[in-house]
Amino acid sequence: MGDNWARYLRQQAELGGAEIYLSSSPPIPSESPPPPRSEPPAGVDSGPKQERPVSSTGIRWMKDAPSLPGPGLVVQPPVPILIGDPVAGLETLDAVAAVVRECRRCGLSSGRTNAVPGEGNPRAGLMCVGEGPGATEDELGRPFVGQAGKLLDQILGAIDCPRESVFIANIVKCRPPQNRKPLPDEAAACLPYLHRQIALVRPKVLLALGGTAAEWLLGVRKSLGELRNQVHRYGEIPLVVTYHPAALLRNPNWKKPTWDDVRIARQLLDA
Ligand code: URA
Ligand code: SF4
Repeated sequence: MGDNWARYLRQQAELGGAEIYLSSSPPIPSESPPPPRSEPPAGVDSGPKQERPVSSTGIRWMKDAPSLPGPGLVVQPPVPILIGDPVAGLETLDAVAAVVRECRRCGLSSGRTNAVPGEGNPRAGLMCVGEGPGATEDELGRPFVGQAGKLLDQILGAIDCPRESVFIANIVKCRPPQNRKPLPDEAAACLPYLHRQIALVRPKVLLALGGTAAEWLLGVRKSLGELRNQVHRYGEIPLVVTYHPAALLRNPNWKKPTWDDVRIARQLLDA
């Protein structure tokens, strides 16, 4: 399937023989260690450390990219101080991850092998949010490392946002049994971690992967069809909704709209 996706992207973007990133280099786990200065990960700007990682590989994804859609929903991220949640006092992504690994705030803790706090570039411009860990993620303690993750790597590579440059997290950090959708009380218990991660990364763009991520980030119950193709806002941060990569593995008809969605997100990164 992954190969099909790469082929599809090549056709859509008329990439010809141009290279598509194929997740050949391992992602950077959490905040440390920083990537060696002499060997920046493919596609990541090797410029000053303070700068956000940006594309250095051209404009292939721009060809026939859709124009930016109109505004959608606007949500305000919770103000931590008013919630009185100790998660709000965690000052680094590593600190959040450490608390997540020990967390027993909901019943999903009892079925996990490893919690999956999320990982990536602490100064990512793009932050991707999925639903929750699957079997491989639970086993390894890392997000999007199974089949869907391989596809996500290819999608990100095709918009010149290699995995190393983004931050990837989930609505719930522990695997739901049989990969079922997180229950409302599980998502509600876990969301403070995600809100804190977003506040710490301060991405330029949020990409919700699938209906569960979209609904919980935006606080609405709406179908993916209703939420796609708009630029929502999470506070100041533009938020784009697209299909979950696992859904693309089941239904190839959603690849074209996904390709449009991620190119919208990509344009917002440059905006
Ligand atoms: N699906 C998700 O939603 N998240 C992961 O981390 C892996 C698969
Ligand atoms: Fe804690 Fe979230 Fe895991 Fe539930 S899913 S135990 S809230 S980390």
